[in-house]
Amino acid sequence: MIVLKFGGTSVGSPENIKKVAEIVNSCEEQNIVVLSAMSGVTNTLQNISDLFYLSKFKEAKLEINDLYNKYKSVIQDLFSKKYFLLKADELLSHNHKIMLSFIDSDFTEKGEKLILAQGEIISTNLFQLLMEEIGENSNLISALDFMKTGITGEPEINLIGDSLSKIISERSNVKTLITQGFICKNEYDEIDNLKRGGSDYTASIIGASINCNQIQIWTDIDGMHNNDPRFVDQTFSIDEISFDEAAELAYFGAKILHPKSIIPARDKNIPVLLKNTFKPESKGTLIHNKAKIVNIRAIAAKDKITAIKIKSYRMLMAYGFLKKVFEVFEQNKTSIDMITTSEVAVSLTIDDATAIDKIIQQLKGFGRIEVENDLSIICIAGNLAQNNKGITSAIFNCLENIPIRMISYGGSNYNLSFLVKTTDKTDVLNLLNKGLFPRLEKVKKPVLI
Ligand code: ASP
Ligand code: MG
Repeated sequence: MIVLKFGGTSVGSPENIKKVAEIVNSCEEQNIVVLSAMSGVTNTLQNISDLFYLSKFKEAKLEINDLYNKYKSVIQDLFSKKYFLLKADELLSHNHKIMLSFIDSDFTEKGEKLILAQGEIISTNLFQLLMEEIGENSNLISALDFMKTGITGEPEINLIGDSLSKIISERSNVKTLITQGFICKNEYDEIDNLKRGGSDYTASIIGASINCNQIQIWTDIDGMHNNDPRFVDQTFSIDEISFDEAAELAYFGAKILHPKSIIPARDKNIPVLLKNTFKPESKGTLIHNKAKIVNIRAIAAKDKITAIKIKSYRMLMAYGFLKKVFEVFEQNKTSIDMITTSEVAVSLTIDDATAIDKIIQQLKGFGRIEVENDLSIICIAGNLAQNNKGITSAIFNCLENIPIRMISYGGSNYNLSFLVKTTDKTDVLNLLNKGLFPRLEKVKKPVLI
């Protein structure tokens, strides 16, 4: 069994949905296909919910109708047989009614969750109808029948595995099982979701819960790149990477994969293959535990970082100081990304500054506080173990003229990160690209005979 997940762009138009069907149908193993909502749809659904909260029913109705019309034009191009077009039309009308039913009512979080679930419900239903039209052996299974989260809001992987195994065993002769990413039932058995971008996580949880052979994540880029292609011209897609390196990169800015989705796969040691729906022939990137060790695997950057420095002589030779500092962040539900300390100061970074005012207020009791915004964390993944001599100097040699605000090294063997001003980010990424990937230099130079 393998799991194939397709993101919003992959199912973003009738043409693309047909491409997805081709990819799925060329897969030889029995498979589970996890789909996102069509691109942009979850944003629209979120807008509609926001309008309902504000009782702006007229505006909400306009958005609902726009979405309905958009879907209507999709099905015109997706299906060629009248029967399937009619079926799809029924589905859309039913969905349209559900959405309109919230008009003139008291809107609650329950309603919002139900609305947000509709994107994946529609994309999977349309895909199942398409598979039927082209005569493929597939079944739609509802994620709401097995994807269950517990009190912590996290998926209950064992329960999920039990329910899903039963569902699969009842369909042993069905080649493709189609299901929704993102949506789930929560501890109260209500419709909920795994948070924005959560479809990758769904795929990984499904794969891990049934111990599948491989999880494939299909997007619109050919795998993970050695550097951020939005800011660096010469990047290449990497053939393979370890789970630990991939986790660091996904967390620190590589947009290709939801950071949480590495964990279930790593726990069960299931290889994750990142592929491009629009270039299925290219190799993609394999995340697995047998990746050949290399000095520098890849670089990523994460923006909108805030640094907070707490300077206090009370820290000098004292114990328990950091605990008190961390408690402030815990109370404000804010996670810390990087941390460095000196004898009389501690600097740390956060990426969610929602509670910054309260945090500063509470930290003031400890000493002098300095806050700096508009920073970026640059994350370098590779073999950064302490015995790999020369690797840190190679990195910093590239950055002679760049002011560096913080450095984090030695936390793991796979990662070195540092903090710079976001205005320096593009320069940093390019300098590192030039200095750390000699392979690129070789490609650039003309061959001399
Ligand atoms: N459709 C959801 C979102 O846009 C989940 C996903 O696509 O991963 O956040
Ligand atoms: Mg996504």
